[in-house]
Amino acid sequence: MTTGIVLDPRFLEHDPGPGHPERPERVAVFLPDLLDSPGLTRITPRTATPEEITLVHGEGHFANVARSAGLSRFAFDADTPVSARSFDTACLAVGGLLALLDEVVAGRLRNGFALVRPPGHHAERERAMGFCLFNNVAIGAAYLHARHGLERVLIVDWDVHHGNGTQHSFARDPGVLYVSTHRYPFYPGTGAIDEIGEGAGEGFTVNIPLPGGFGDAEYVEAFRTVIEPIALEYAPQLVLISAGFDPHRRDPLGGMAVSERGFAAMARSVLGVAQQVAGGRCVAVLEGGYDLAAMRDSAIAVLDELRGAAGELPAQPRSSHARPILDAVRRVHEPFWKF
Ligand SMILES: [Zn+2]
Repeated sequence: MTTGIVLDPRFLEHDPGPGHPERPERVAVFLPDLLDSPGLTRITPRTATPEEITLVHGEGHFANVARSAGLSRFAFDADTPVSARSFDTACLAVGGLLALLDEVVAGRLRNGFALVRPPGHHAERERAMGFCLFNNVAIGAAYLHARHGLERVLIVDWDVHHGNGTQHSFARDPGVLYVSTHRYPFYPGTGAIDEIGEGAGEGFTVNIPLPGGFGDAEYVEAFRTVIEPIALEYAPQLVLISAGFDPHRRDPLGGMAVSERGFAAMARSVLGVAQQVAGGRCVAVLEGGYDLAAMRDSAIAVLDELRGAAGELPAQPRSSHARPILDAVRRVHEPFWKF
């Protein structure tokens, strides 16, 4: 079994306009080299259906985005302008992830990475925001439940921004465990340590808010001492990664200090969980990341982990400043999880 990638020149067709950081080059930077890379199987994206997109979004929001098709000067908010082909591209991004999930669930692929845009994790049920039109990863998790009958899906979101839309989609749903590392306080303002889910979903939202400047050592400690024990106890049947590369130290928006090796270490941690409890089933989907070379190199480092082509990771530096925050996260979640 191999690793799948969703990568298609049609993802360049969503154009938020000159000077916008979420630009078509973010996918172009992978073309064409990655298409011929050994050990990767290319999955052709399909267009998601309205029924699939409304697993997470309201019909009103779907109709709003659909109505933007063909418009050349329209914006859902100050951050989220669209072009004539944005609606079609967003449907293709969702459908690309779903097509990849079908292959992994069927056992034809071991794992994969959907290198799609626009990104998704800020999109709310009834609202586009933060460069995002439809919430790709949330629709993916809902589809795994609705179409494939999975009962437990883990979403690990390491984008520098909190995935407000994903969290809100599953706040009351113990069938999706949402775990996020993110800079805090920061855009979009959500993701405090005490946002833990509601009702039957209490304990199934885990927020790890981090101050600016944290790097590989702190992220790796968060993954090893908080995310791994919770994820192993949850025992997901498939693991999704909201893979944003804006925590990279060269990212112009993020203000964190993660390196390519740090992303590889996070991927290795998540893959270890997937291998122990989910039959290795793990699918990453691209979120943010605005330094083109940093994002490309980091995504390729994650792909190397997915296809088992990576070598030994260098030992992480011992000193981490994350301990007080991670202790606080564990205290908040002690009623729900064993550490
Ligand atoms: Zn981001």
